[in-house]
Amino acid sequence: MGIVETQAIVLQTYKLADADKIVLCMTERAGLVRGVARGARRLKSKFGASLEPFTLIQLTFFEKETRELVTIRGAEIIKSYFDAIGNAQAFGGLVYLLELVKEFALPNQADEKLFKMLRACVDFLARNPLEVNAVSAYSELWTLKLAGFLPDLKSCGVCGIRLDDSYQGRRFISHEGVLWCDTCTKAGSQPLGGEAYLLLSSTRRTGPKEWAEQFSEAGVESRLVVSETARRLVRRALEREPRSVRASATQR
Ligand SMILES: [Zn+2]
Repeated sequence: MGIVETQAIVLQTYKLADADKIVLCMTERAGLVRGVARGARRLKSKFGASLEPFTLIQLTFFEKETRELVTIRGAEIIKSYFDAIGNAQAFGGLVYLLELVKEFALPNQADEKLFKMLRACVDFLARNPLEVNAVSAYSELWTLKLAGFLPDLKSCGVCGIRLDDSYQGRRFISHEGVLWCDTCTKAGSQPLGGEAYLLLSSTRRTGPKEWAEQFSEAGVESRLVVSETARRLVRRALEREPRSVRASATQR
């Protein structure tokens, strides 16, 4: 409570009254924060261009225990990703990233790991728009993991045998994303090659750049299995298709 200073990424803004803005941010120290920025839509606002989506800012806000909305006192741009918005691929990926964070972050609960993942992915994607598929899968696996929706990838979901790097048999993945060993696998499961397994289980150990490199070096089949698995798990967790994915599909 009181004055909070933290790094933040602006996720969304809404108009409020004549001159104000409501801003939704993912912050480093306070998780998802929704605040009012008084006068932010005036031509000579003290906030300048800092409260635009995808901007990394140093945010100062005032929080009252009884209010859900905080009051934004100040915002300084650390890095603007305005240029990336002009690139259709980067923009689509950024919108999806923000949706994932908005859906999976718990309100008013600090989640430094989720913030750092978002900051790293926005930065990497803005500079490498062609890596949009890799960044989408990477951020899906990360958010699922942090929100507790990623199944255990270290052992068989039936018998519990270790399926990590030392496992010699074939691995399979069920429609629900549960891993099965060679013995426990059932009809309808998908074989999961070593390459795809490594990609699925290594997001926590690698940053987006390194992971995207591994992803682009992997075979088509592996990339497809990883992307499909990550998306299917997101759909299951949300109990629907992500909105930005649905929107981009209808545009096509
Ligand atoms: Zn088993």
